[in-house]
Amino acid sequence: MSQASIRVGKITVTAVSDGILKTGLDVILGLTPEECARLAGCAYDAPIYLPVNSFLIDLAGKHVLVDAGSGSNMQPTLGKLPDNLRAIGVPPEAITTILLTHLHPDHANGLIDGDGNAIFPNAELIVHEQESRFYLERDANDGDSERVRRTLVASKLAVAPYRGRIRTIPDGEALPGISAVLQPGHTRGHTCWLLQSGRERLLIWGDIVHLPSVQVPRPDAALVYDVDPVMAPETRAQVFDWVARERLRVAGAHLPYPGFGTITRQGDGGAAFAYTASP
Ligand SMILES: [Zn+2]
Repeated sequence: MSQASIRVGKITVTAVSDGILKTGLDVILGLTPEECARLAGCAYDAPIYLPVNSFLIDLAGKHVLVDAGSGSNMQPTLGKLPDNLRAIGVPPEAITTILLTHLHPDHANGLIDGDGNAIFPNAELIVHEQESRFYLERDANDGDSERVRRTLVASKLAVAPYRGRIRTIPDGEALPGISAVLQPGHTRGHTCWLLQSGRERLLIWGDIVHLPSVQVPRPDAALVYDVDPVMAPETRAQVFDWVARERLRVAGAHLPYPGFGTITRQGDGGAAFAYTASP
C-alpha cells in the first residue's frame, strides 16, 4: 500500500483525503470521445471518479494545510477533510496556515461550514495575489463565463470569515522552505507550492493534472473547468518538462490518493511523458 506520509528533508507531508468527486469524460476539451475513452480505459459515458486530496505539512511544529477541500454541499462523497484530519490527530482547530493552490470550489469551499462559519478558526489563509485579484477583488463582468461567475460568488463567501487573516503574496517564499510558483491557466492565479528542505524538494502542484490517464499522455487536453483552456495545457506541458528534467517529486490534488509521484520523459514514439505513483 502506498504511504500517506512522505519526508521532504526535515518536513513531513501527509496526504489527507477530502473524498471523491464524480464527473465524466465530457469535461475534456479537444479530444474525440473515442480518444478520451481509449486513454481512460472506459466507456465515454461512464462516470469518472476524481480523488480530492489536501496535503498537511508539519513545519517546525506548525500545521500547514494545502487546500481546504470541498465543504459539505458539493457532492455527498466530498467534504470528508475535517473528519480525516481529526482521525490523524490534527483537528481543523490545530491548523495554523492554509496555502491555497486556487479558489475553485473543490479547494476552497471547505473553508466554511453550511452556515458560513470558518472550519479552521485559527488559520491564516495564503493566496497568490493574482488569484485574489481575479476572484476576491472584483465583481463579475460581461466577459465572465457562468462557471467563473459562480466561483466569484462562492470564493468570496468561503473566505469571508477569514477577513483580516488573509495574506496575498507574489511568487517566492511564503513560509520557511515553502515558495509560491504561479502556474496560470487552470485559473488566473493557479499556484504550485514548492517545498525545499536540505537537498530534497516536492512540488505540490494543485490542478496541473486532473485525469492522469488522459492528460499525462495528452497534456494538450484542456478541461471545461479551465478558466483559460489555451493557457492551461501550455502550462501543463512546461511543468511536465520542468519536473521531469529536475526529477522533482510532485503531489497532486486529483492524482490517485495519496497523490505523490513523478513525471518522466519517455523515449521516441508514443507519449512524451509518463506518471508513476510513489510506492
Ligand atoms: Zn480541483
